[in-house]
Amino acid sequence: MTTASPLLEARALARHYTVSRGPFRAKGLVRALDGVSFSVREGETLAIVGESGCGKSTLARQVTMIERPTSGELRLCGEDVAHADRATLKRLRPQVQMVFQNPYASLNPRKQVVTLLDEPLAINTDLSRSARRDAARAMMARVGLRPEHERRYPHMFSGGQRQRIAVARALMLRPRLLVADEPVSALDVSIQAQVLNLLMDLQQDMGIAYLFISHNLQVVRHIAETVAVLYLGKIVESGPKALVFRRPAHPYTRALLASTPSLRSNRRAAAQSAAPRTSPELEGENGARRTSTVLRGEPPSPLSPPSGCAFHGRCPYAIERCRGEVPMLEPFDGALVACHRVAEINA
Ligand code: SF4
Repeated sequence: MTTASPLLEARALARHYTVSRGPFRAKGLVRALDGVSFSVREGETLAIVGESGCGKSTLARQVTMIERPTSGELRLCGEDVAHADRATLKRLRPQVQMVFQNPYASLNPRKQVVTLLDEPLAINTDLSRSARRDAARAMMARVGLRPEHERRYPHMFSGGQRQRIAVARALMLRPRLLVADEPVSALDVSIQAQVLNLLMDLQQDMGIAYLFISHNLQVVRHIAETVAVLYLGKIVESGPKALVFRRPAHPYTRALLASTPSLRSNRRAAAQSAAPRTSPELEGENGARRTSTVLRGEPPSPLSPPSGCAFHGRCPYAIERCRGEVPMLEPFDGALVACHRVAEINA
């Protein structure tokens, strides 16, 4: 086990936004991120999973230093990003790059591929033009683009190839951390596998760490070592991937897994609309059967989050205590889980 300090470390990280609620009404406070703690080591992949609106993209904006957190600590390479001055941020930013969900929107349609790859080096390094071009061509080859592609524009490529260009551009500065925000969710399933394989190969070659953001647990299952499940700005469960898939402990994690298409109980479970929604049909990673929880309703509004456990309105196991007391993230059987009834549910 390595004792080196993490590449990225968040402690009680929070990002709140003040929003207008219309004329004659007091402004509201959205706690998009509400005290999350996690770490990512060199060359590892942490997956952040949750439904739309859970705070995943807000987290990406903090880690990529696009926004400053409201409170808490965020350390990159041991340096405090949350309170860093502009010079420090400028020095640290090349260490973290991002790949977005929609490569068509993130690539300038008026620029040729070779220019798109040259740009990060031209802005951030003193390399000569010919050295930059050589580096761009080498990276194109590394991500599976052919030499004749270098003079083409983004619209001339398929979605999968465009995402390869986006990955290549993100890696031109040799970052230590890549934040991938739903990087394959806009692609066909067959292409998703190709891009995931590419990301895993690049990680092995370059020792890069990934913060992989997704709503899709099947995608996470392929690429992550550690999984953190986010619900309404808080981590409700985190742990090693194999454990989270084999024995999801939090009712929300169970529900997310039950809604994953390739789990064979999904269709039948979705047809059961009434609580308490347990089904003996899901299989874990090792083929072991486990109990599922079907996800009901929509996530609550972050403008008026529920009291106590934010999941209580959708949870088949909710009791009175859940409505009044916020559960803490505490160790449970090799993972961290925020649920008052975790021991009973997993007995
Ligand atoms: Fe469900 Fe209560 Fe656990 Fe929240 S604390 S997940 S409402 S049982």
